[in-house]
Amino acid sequence: MGLLEWLMPPSIFNVFQTRLLDNEQGAQLEPDFRPALLVVDMQEDFCPPNGTLAVTGGRSITPLINTLLSSPLFVLRVATKDWHPPNHISFASNHNHTSSSSPCCPEFAGEAIPFLSTTTVHNPHNPSESYTTRLWPAHCIAGTPGACLIPELDVSKIDKILEKGTNPLVEMYSAFYDPLKNPRVSDSGLAQMLREARVTHVYVVGLAADYCVWSTAMDAHNEGFETVVVEEATKPVDEEGWRRCKEALVAEGKGVKVVRWEGEEVGRLFPGGLVTTGVGAGGEEVEEEKI
Ligand SMILES: [Zn+2]
Repeated sequence: MGLLEWLMPPSIFNVFQTRLLDNEQGAQLEPDFRPALLVVDMQEDFCPPNGTLAVTGGRSITPLINTLLSSPLFVLRVATKDWHPPNHISFASNHNHTSSSSPCCPEFAGEAIPFLSTTTVHNPHNPSESYTTRLWPAHCIAGTPGACLIPELDVSKIDKILEKGTNPLVEMYSAFYDPLKNPRVSDSGLAQMLREARVTHVYVVGLAADYCVWSTAMDAHNEGFETVVVEEATKPVDEEGWRRCKEALVAEGKGVKVVRWEGEEVGRLFPGGLVTTGVGAGGEEVEEEKI
């Protein structure tokens, strides 16, 4: 006999046990709440100190993401990896002035310039469809150390890892698909995966806020999921660009919500009250109770 059974009559013990189960399974508390967590591109190349496309503070959000991963309510936890071939169209090093729009910069002697140059991506199946995209330093080349998920991320809690950007001919910020539509070139299968799991809400975190997190959140919303981005669990390439993204949300009345860690959207993931757990600055385990 366990200690609880010894302390309580069987009828009380059964009620107590049922309530515990309700809390653990969550869905019984909120039958219309079946959230999924999308952890976008927490990879070495997007993080200081050595990432080729390091986002300021990119590594620092990992404890919060690990806390979210520990919520018992997520029905699906997906991590994405940018996973490019060496000849990917988004790398400035794969372009010169004939294949990009580049500002004048003698230092680059006719080469495209990371962050500043752009190129036009044509639909390989329909050349009349195209879009312009920014060029980057080479990053997340499939199979290289820079493409690895950072070791601080608790991958033991992740159900599925998706690779994106694998087609050399198109850029793919979103974890769902590339922006080309007529016809679509790459589809990760994420929308179908979320539907099969009967997901209702999608929480998006990771890197970078103003590019892959943003595109992923917009597509999640357009696919019909209640979508939130947790502000403290993402970091932008460009703070000004991220501010414009958020302003556009308000101005256009889009359905994606950018929420704060202390807000109700994060709070409902922890019906037992646990809000923060993870690794502190000194590497120690930290745990805080919600007040
Ligand atoms: Zn990329």
